Amino acid sequence: MRGRPDGPGAADLLRRLEAGRSSGVTHVERIGARTARTAPWPGWVPAALRDAYSFEPWEHQAAAAELAHAGRHVVVATGTASGKSLAYQMPALSRLLDDPRATVLYLSPTKALAADQLRAVARLGLDEVRPATYDGDTPREEREWIRRHSRFVLTNPDMLHHSLLPGHAKWAVFLRRLAYVVIDECHAYRGVFGSHVAHVLRRLRRLAAQYGGDPTFVLASATSGDPAGAASRLTGLPVTAVTEDASPRGAVTFALWEPPLLPQEDPDLPPTRRSALSETADLLTDAVVGGTRTLAFIRSRRGAEVVATMARRSLDEAVPGLGDRVAAYRAGYLKEDRRKIERALLSGELLALASTNALELGVDLVGLDAVLICGYPGTRASLWQQAGRAGRDGGEALAVLVARDDPLDTYLVHHPEAIFGRTVEATVLDPTNPYVLGPQLCCAAAESALRPADLELFGGDPARAAVEGLTAAGALRKRPSGWYWTHPGRPDVDLRGTGGGPVSVVESSTGRLLGTVDEGSSHVMLHTGAAYLHQGVTYVVDELDLEDAVALVHAANPDWSTHARDITDVSVVAVRERMDAGPVSLFLGEVDVTNQVVSYQRRRIGSGEVIDTRPLDLPARQLRTVAVWFTITLEALHTAGVDPPDIPGALHAAEHAAIGLLPLIATCDRWDIGGLSTANHQDTESPTVFVYDGHPGGAGFAERAYATATAWLGATREAIASCACETGCPSCVQSPKCGNGNNPLDKARAVHVLDTVLTALP
Ligand SMILES: [Zn+2]
Ligand SMILES: [Zn+2]
Repeated sequence: MRGRPDGPGAADLLRRLEAGRSSGVTHVERIGARTARTAPWPGWVPAALRDAYSFEPWEHQAAAAELAHAGRHVVVATGTASGKSLAYQMPALSRLLDDPRATVLYLSPTKALAADQLRAVARLGLDEVRPATYDGDTPREEREWIRRHSRFVLTNPDMLHHSLLPGHAKWAVFLRRLAYVVIDECHAYRGVFGSHVAHVLRRLRRLAAQYGGDPTFVLASATSGDPAGAASRLTGLPVTAVTEDASPRGAVTFALWEPPLLPQEDPDLPPTRRSALSETADLLTDAVVGGTRTLAFIRSRRGAEVVATMARRSLDEAVPGLGDRVAAYRAGYLKEDRRKIERALLSGELLALASTNALELGVDLVGLDAVLICGYPGTRASLWQQAGRAGRDGGEALAVLVARDDPLDTYLVHHPEAIFGRTVEATVLDPTNPYVLGPQLCCAAAESALRPADLELFGGDPARAAVEGLTAAGALRKRPSGWYWTHPGRPDVDLRGTGGGPVSVVESSTGRLLGTVDEGSSHVMLHTGAAYLHQGVTYVVDELDLEDAVALVHAANPDWSTHARDITDVSVVAVRERMDAGPVSLFLGEVDVTNQVVSYQRRRIGSGEVIDTRPLDLPARQLRTVAVWFTITLEALHTAGVDPPDIPGALHAAEHAAIGLLPLIATCDRWDIGGLSTANHQDTESPTVFVYDGHPGGAGFAERAYATATAWLGATREAIASCACETGCPSCVQSPKCGNGNNPLDKARAVHVLDTVLTALP
């Protein structure tokens, strides 16, 4: 899709969006256009390949290709639509044409992207390459042909882990001849999933080496901080980064937008802002009325549905039938439905989409006139990735970040330097996470006995300690030649770390599968009685069957929404690091978190009035993870004006804001982390605030928080103190995921608590 040079300019569009409403613009940043810099085709590229493309490469594509051709592992980390695929196609396909025996393995985080790449390679018409996707959908009868004949196999880490590596003997020839491993969208491999994939790649390297293969790794990443370091942690190899983007880009006007305060009806209640969802739906409506092709990114699946529904409704009021040109798009839709929607936007049949995050979208969806980002997506890297869908060439495009009523979003729209003045975050992953390392070593041993020399590849000392632990526990057996997996069957290891497959949402009356929800969110989203939104239709859950991973639902039109309530308990398992600073102590360590969804509230849509609270009977879930926590003495709290009756509210408010601001310094979002505050914790015997990683074994977020505690808690204090509200609001200390209904909260004393901590810490 191309930007239309004759379309409305971004400045005009922004003015039009501001017209007739109280403008929420807090900052406008203009990002200039960039002109293309091309490079000649390297001399080693065969003429057949050069001729298959009809253009010259850009400088960064040629630079990355040269490194890969020379056998150097390389990561190309440039913006959306900067043609990263040519950077690996050039060396990989050249090699396949020059050496009729060589093979290439391509990995992508989604099947959709692999299918897209397959089409791109097939279009080149290079018969001898025989590209093929190999994933869960590949029919059995085709698998054999692919193993024997395909020289460019496109798959994903899950398939590598579950099928290709365990069945490596059948792939022996392919692995021996493996010239390149391509890892596309490698920034997707972060957190616990990233740590698993890091080991899957080490398992691949070990087996390839056993068959005599020694592939060069070529990685493609969105713009990220320290791409070489992240790629190196992911592959375990030294990797050179190419980051200078030489592709052309149209100018983008980037506006930060804060929804207005609502008229205050009851002076005793805290002031509230218009919701980011309503604001985004209105902006989307106005954009579509003006014929602007627009993509709105919404954080939650439910939110994407809500925005699409609201926009469709107001468009139909303006011009009957116009509502049909807007659709929702999200994970959990069936594949056919998603492809259909993508095609409709490409053909122009649809003018706008309200979508969940960028990774799910087809790579072709670029060059749009406007991108609306409803709520900060958690990292600057994803913010730029989403904004990058706007304005490819020629035309001037608009990106708008609409702030949610939340401390981080509010902080950012008033501190543009925290967005525009900084480099993007590094991708965090931790291959030494024991919850990843142990199971992965079992998988490796099941594929081929682990030799002592292999342990270096899997991380050295932590791997040696893990193997000893696994041997003592009877998972592995030590023999003179190494460690063996001697159990029947293979180790049961899930890379996505969700602890169970997705839950299917099925319509009771028809048996129709509507979609799926990941297991981790199912207790909150699909508990019995929950209102569940799908393509604009509200369903009510009749029954959540955890055994069969099915939620049975029926279509309904209730005038209420549901909100799950939960209880959480934290116990300290081990302290890794601590810092004592007078009355304040800061800790990093392992904790056990027990969480149980116990009830839900039904609230009237519109007024938010609580209709009733109903109990639920769901099992508790336990999580062993890493947390950062601080304690303060009662005396210091008293000196700061926080006396015992005020302590729970002050700590609770500080905890909420601290969780909200952590994404400022770590590549997580607030849904990846949790917290607990208590006036007297059983393990610390002091007033304590815990903030923990929501992933088994931790994903590196708590470590970041501990290492940058002063910056993190300083921004937290600033966010609370500068909020204009009287007693606390969602922009500062209220939390959308509070299991206690945001009670008690003491905004003013939370600032005193944080002042005490910040004064004490060095
Ligand atoms: Zn506030
Ligand atoms: Zn809370």
